[in-house]
Amino acid sequence: MSKKILVWFRNDLRLHDNEMLVEAIAKSDSILPVYIVEPRAFEQTKYNTLKTGSIRAQFILESVAALRNSLKQIGGNLLVAEGKSEEIIPALVQEYEINEVYHHREVADEETQVSTLVENGLWKLRINLKHFIGHTLYNKEDLPFPIKDIPDAFNQFKKKIERDAIIKPCFLAPDRINVAEVIDWGNIPSITDLGLTTQEKDIRSDFEFIGGETEGINTLQKVTIAMQQAATSKNLILASKLSAWLAIGSLSPRKVYWEIKKMESMPNTKAMFNHVLLGLLWRDYFRFMFKKYGNTFFKPNGFGSQGIVDKDNTPENFNNWKNGQTGFAVVDAVMNELNQTGYISNIARQTAALYLINNLEVSWILGAAYFEEKLIDYNPASNWGNWANMAGVGNDQKTKGVFDLDKNIKNLDPKGNYAITWAS
Ligand SMILES: Cc1cc2nc3c(=O)[nH]c(=O)nc-3n(C[C@H](O)[C@H](O)[C@H](O)COP(=O)(O)OP(=O)(O)OC[C@H]3O[C@@H](n4cnc5c(N)ncnc54)[C@H](O)[C@@H]3O)c2cc1C
Repeated sequence: MSKKILVWFRNDLRLHDNEMLVEAIAKSDSILPVYIVEPRAFEQTKYNTLKTGSIRAQFILESVAALRNSLKQIGGNLLVAEGKSEEIIPALVQEYEINEVYHHREVADEETQVSTLVENGLWKLRINLKHFIGHTLYNKEDLPFPIKDIPDAFNQFKKKIERDAIIKPCFLAPDRINVAEVIDWGNIPSITDLGLTTQEKDIRSDFEFIGGETEGINTLQKVTIAMQQAATSKNLILASKLSAWLAIGSLSPRKVYWEIKKMESMPNTKAMFNHVLLGLLWRDYFRFMFKKYGNTFFKPNGFGSQGIVDKDNTPENFNNWKNGQTGFAVVDAVMNELNQTGYISNIARQTAALYLINNLEVSWILGAAYFEEKLIDYNPASNWGNWANMAGVGNDQKTKGVFDLDKNIKNLDPKGNYAITWAS
């Protein structure tokens, strides 16, 4: 009997460096690539925010369409269905006589919960759900310590991991694929099908985020070109703006690492290499911390105590902050940019967070929930982990109190131009 493997894509929408896909192709006669649009990922939260706002939703839909195209180019396709994964996957397994299901393991509670539900459904059919790890720069098995012993202090984590762990090479993208026979591969829903409205691009933004692996790789190429140019012009741009493609998995962190590493020996590129690498390490760190501590990152007091929260004025202060109407020009500009584009720099994120927590005395949890709705590059570990740090309730207590709003504002907007550009 021929072997069929269902490949369940989630936040890994790429062909390159995708161990799950490579192994599924190698171990089967045909595969069934599947992406499920889950209505619950677009619902309202208990904080009166959306789990996914329209800018990220658009990016996700583009990424799914791009994956479908890439699969078609190598002789395959992507089955797209809408509903609950725990209902759809077992049903597909029965319909297509699937022998095994592959997917990538997630770390945050809601995402792992979905995997557990799917696993339970498959268990009843005596079908195995195989877990892969492919979201991080360093693989969990290659760390010099078990998850429970990973140092809580980021600097220690970085020092040890850089000394004692290796970054694996990338898996090659498949160039041919054999897929199951499917009559209806399903439609990719539109943004309005998801109950959202398309948001027009803001002309003030000089950068365009378009979903998909090709766009992600193009942006990575631009980063390496910028590094080459910096070698002669010394005109260094530090932020890579790769986060959205990394978050949805259209770019693998290893791919980013090995591409920028090729540039490392050129003059004047070290600063950018180190900057991007440092970001990727923070990204890994928060994922591993989520694995180690789980839900503590979603609790207001986190690993400490969140300090003063002005409950009486919270609704008004939170609303003003969300809408860029606090009266504090730089913070309002940050929130306007976030609302219009879905992307703000790290320093802008810190500035908005510090102001909400310390000046408006609103619980950081609300800020994190709002960023979850708005950020194009949202991922649970990076968002809630960074917010917890900003609020001084993260697990690395060394980061407590190191942030300074005035200093941030001077760096973010030294001449006041930023506040003028994003004044509304
Ligand atoms: C309050 C707050 C919330 C945040 N929420 C998110 C989020 O939901 N998703 C997200 O990807 N990043 C988040 N960040 C981290 C960081 O701001 C963004 O990753 C970064 O600004 C993206 O821009 P870039 O791609 O140019 O990053 P670069 O500076 O070029 O860094 C390269 C990559 O490293 C990763 N990275 C960089 N800094 C961090 C960091 N501090 N924590 C985790 N990963 C990092 C990103 O994947 C990024 O693309 C948050 C930071 C703060 C302060």
